[in-house]
Amino acid sequence: MTTTIPKFKLASRVSQEEDTIITVKGQHIGGPHTTVIAGPCAIENEYQMLSTARAVKTSGATILRGGAYKPRTSPYSFQGLEEEGLELLKKAGELVDLPTVSEVISTETFDIVEKYVDILQIGARNMQNFPLLKRAGKSNKPILLKRGMSATIEELLMAAEYIMSEGNMQIILCERGIRTFETYTRNTLDLSAVLAIRELSHLPIIVDPSHATGRHEMIRPLAKAAIITGAHGLMVEVHYQPEIALCDGPQSLKPEAFELLMRDIEHLRDFNTQMLNIKSK
Ligand code: PEP
Ligand code: MN
Repeated sequence: MTTTIPKFKLASRVSQEEDTIITVKGQHIGGPHTTVIAGPCAIENEYQMLSTARAVKTSGATILRGGAYKPRTSPYSFQGLEEEGLELLKKAGELVDLPTVSEVISTETFDIVEKYVDILQIGARNMQNFPLLKRAGKSNKPILLKRGMSATIEELLMAAEYIMSEGNMQIILCERGIRTFETYTRNTLDLSAVLAIRELSHLPIIVDPSHATGRHEMIRPLAKAAIITGAHGLMVEVHYQPEIALCDGPQSLKPEAFELLMRDIEHLRDFNTQMLNIKSK
């Protein structure tokens, strides 16, 4: 009997049975590794970026995040510091010795973002920006691809396929909540997507409970649930002072809360590693 090759040929477990493991500056993402990406939603100034970077590093984050080009719903909201922000993120990453990730929102600014960061993020709103996906496919840096807020799992994998078909196999997928009829939370976290993606694809899948809920008090329990479900890691927004954040303060953890989350994750890590090993077989 022949196995049917799914539409997403390169991203599929049929084409590659073993988990993809991506290595960036000594940090491994995928397989048995648990990645924790943390940092502010937006890079605001040097003090904010450096103090948040120090805090998340001390607590055990493995990758530092910070947005410099912000895709905001309102044109009047803070749009990001752009290249100046990327310089601060690079400086912070070097200071705390962590790889960095930042979002790229257009093909025009791809080269600039690529120059400064270790991993490029394609956000939910651009998951099906095909020219951007094709440009990402020509990069030699890993791409963090977030699920569109109305995208099916298959559409997410097809978006990854766009990048892979251009030659870049280093993709990290991210479940960040989808739009449903529920409005109590910002989005609805679809944890079953983690199980589906682990079944369908060899690519690492991480979970972002910050954008999924919009509520800081829900991050810790859902982050733990994501790890237990088999996610290869998390993306969590952390701000040294969320009350004054220029973007996504209500869903940002204070450094103390992030520290508590990391202690929980440490306990779950062994459990997760065993689970990932079993599932990778
Ligand atoms: C982000 O991670 O800063 C972001 C904008 O996320 P999303 O694309 O998932 O909304
Ligand atoms: Mn955000």
